[in-house]
Amino acid sequence: MTDLERIPVRSPASVAVFRRILTHGPIGRVDIARATGLSQAMITKAVTPLMAAGFVEESEFTRTENGVGRPISPLAVVRNRTYLAGIKVTADRSYGVLTDLGADPLAQVEAGHANSGPDEVLRAMNQIARELRRRSPSGRLDGIGVAVSGDVDRAAGVVRDSPLLGWRSVPLRERLQALTGTPVTVENDVRALTLTENMFGAGRDAATLAVVTIGAGIGCGLFLNGRIVQGAHGVSGEIGHLPLAPGDLVCTCGRRGCVETVASTRAIVDRVRSAAGKAALTIDDVFDLARRGDPDAVAAFAAAGEMIGAALAALVNLVGPELVIIAGESVTEYDLYADRLRATFAEHAFGAAIDCDIVLTPHTFNDWARGAAVCVIEEMAGGSL
Ligand SMILES: [Zn+2]
Repeated sequence: MTDLERIPVRSPASVAVFRRILTHGPIGRVDIARATGLSQAMITKAVTPLMAAGFVEESEFTRTENGVGRPISPLAVVRNRTYLAGIKVTADRSYGVLTDLGADPLAQVEAGHANSGPDEVLRAMNQIARELRRRSPSGRLDGIGVAVSGDVDRAAGVVRDSPLLGWRSVPLRERLQALTGTPVTVENDVRALTLTENMFGAGRDAATLAVVTIGAGIGCGLFLNGRIVQGAHGVSGEIGHLPLAPGDLVCTCGRRGCVETVASTRAIVDRVRSAAGKAALTIDDVFDLARRGDPDAVAAFAAAGEMIGAALAALVNLVGPELVIIAGESVTEYDLYADRLRATFAEHAFGAAIDCDIVLTPHTFNDWARGAAVCVIEEMAGGSL
């Protein structure tokens, strides 16, 4: 295992200070004090060892408050000494991204797998890690994060159940660490994406946040009370399996009436295929048909929009997040179902729940991979890696 130099965050106060510099830097000491509620003396006490160890520096952009008084030197994280790999696993391909400590993506690598069995996927992940290490400016990887869909026990580093990959109880962290000699963090992909929006994205300043992902599946990550909800038993935010749909269709999970039976991209494609009697239609064909006003395709997107709107209302009524971010690969086609989604949401949102902000951010597989790297950054910034 690499002899990694830890970030000197030894108290809750220094964790809070470093995290604020990481997510909001360059940032002045006064702003850190305002955000964390800590005194200037405590901030100095936290920052001094971070600067001595070379993880924080005074930014070169000095400025004065309104052009008067002493110039202030905002604090920023030193980015060019720590490099992380993030890997997103899909059924037939893994996507890797190299980032610095500020989660800026520096390089991307993909590797296909002949099947989704653990041995074959680990081979692909090791290949990605080797290539990203080669491209790392330091010639090193300080940590590897892996994002997998399904039930993931992050603390144990075990993928307990991933229906998409057909995995059960795979000790992924242990196996990938043994192959790469690098510390590994394994997390559920939606939670990893939620953490990224919380630390570095549109949810940076939201006290509570829900990230809803729309694509092959429909998932939801929650940030509440200062942390990402893990679920006491490893499952939470599964809005794709809320029983809001008619019960005649069977879900990929084996149950009936799930939101995904109407609203996943697969459900939309299946519906248009059977209506048109064309089994070879792809999702892009279906987008195209809907844009040209084909009634079956338009109806399929309307039904999906209605279903997602109802699921969003259920989520917002139950949890009351300040912000909902809708993310995913097919969000670029969002206009096909946006009207029905918003109308159904408005119809079912209870009282002031309707004031919840809903924003869209398109995500690619590389963004999911970056989310995996952010999980490693979070552990380093918390002093646990
Ligand atoms: Zn289901």
